[in-house]
Amino acid sequence: MKAKPQLHGLPSYKPGKPIEEVKRELGLTKVVKLASNENPYGSSPKAAKAIQDAAAQTAIYPDGYAAMIREKVATKIGVDENQLIFGNGSDEVIQFLCRAFLSPETNTVTADPTFSQYKLNATIEGAEVREVPSVDGVHDLDAMLEAIDEQTRIVWVCNPNNPSGTYVNEAAFTNFLERVPSHVLVVSDEAYYEYVTAKDYPETLPLLKKYNNLMILRTFSKAYGLAALRIGYGVGNPDLISLIDPVRPPFNNTTFAHVAASAALDDDQFIADCVEKNTAALKQFEQFCENHNLTYYPSQTNFILIDFNRSGDEVFDLLLKKGFIVRSGQALGFPTCVRITVGTEEENKELFAVLEEILHSNKVGQ
Ligand SMILES: *Cc1c(COP(=O)(O)O)cnc(C)c1O
Repeated sequence: MKAKPQLHGLPSYKPGKPIEEVKRELGLTKVVKLASNENPYGSSPKAAKAIQDAAAQTAIYPDGYAAMIREKVATKIGVDENQLIFGNGSDEVIQFLCRAFLSPETNTVTADPTFSQYKLNATIEGAEVREVPSVDGVHDLDAMLEAIDEQTRIVWVCNPNNPSGTYVNEAAFTNFLERVPSHVLVVSDEAYYEYVTAKDYPETLPLLKKYNNLMILRTFSKAYGLAALRIGYGVGNPDLISLIDPVRPPFNNTTFAHVAASAALDDDQFIADCVEKNTAALKQFEQFCENHNLTYYPSQTNFILIDFNRSGDEVFDLLLKKGFIVRSGQALGFPTCVRITVGTEEENKELFAVLEEILHSNKVGQ
């Protein structure tokens, strides 16, 4: 058998450890997962009810056109229905874009470090990946622009960026968009859009009118708390959407994702409450870092990247033993950091206590 050569040696995605496995391995009764930027408050109760109400529909294929959620999202964000494409998570929309635009003759430009799925999917398509080092965790848009050439097909702006939590502001983004050649698709991945509080964060939807080479990605996995259901979407020019739609498998979302996401969109209060708690908790994380002289990346998301000045894997292991699953920065491009998802007030308090212990024993040990 001869698979694509680029698949050889390509690692599988390593997700955060499952809670049950950690409990078993370490003999812990309580384990908190702060590793995958999930919403610690779950999702709107309206979403769970919608799934229950749809429970009898398992034998029927879902609506391949996603009419119900399409109409809902279009109304909610103020675009036309033909400007939307739904994916099995926005991860799948990233896959559609790579499949549609990239091939071995082409290249794609990303920041470094950034979300791993751009590079992975581009590599599978055989495209060259041009990774442009970020500055203090923020995309270097000027350098990314310089990396673009005739063969470039997609440039990825992860905004806010995972894993740094930092963002590109409105002036920088619009200036960038103005200068990117029209043959290049600009993807603004806004997985953490709902959590953003910065006043100068770019509002990209109105830019779609002017730039038909812009695609915006949003998801129900983060603030909406529907990660288990796998639903996210892309917003773009209708021609762009109909161009890439044949790449999409015909029934790529489940009925349960459609009904739950539709119901979740009706619960603005749930999102507002979660965002308020997240913003307050982020302040506590920042305060904790300042109190302990730890460098952190200012976050516009529901996670924070903290520099512990020692191996991220080590801090990861120490936290794991105390029942907290986080993400080591080692595999994320920040070897001395860990990325911690903001938890509930109680979880954060417990985490701070454990971190204090770790920082203290570190000093003693030196
Ligand atoms: C979580 C995340 C996604 C994808 O989430 P889905 O669950 O596939 O919708 C996309 N981009 C970034 C930056 C993310 O952090």
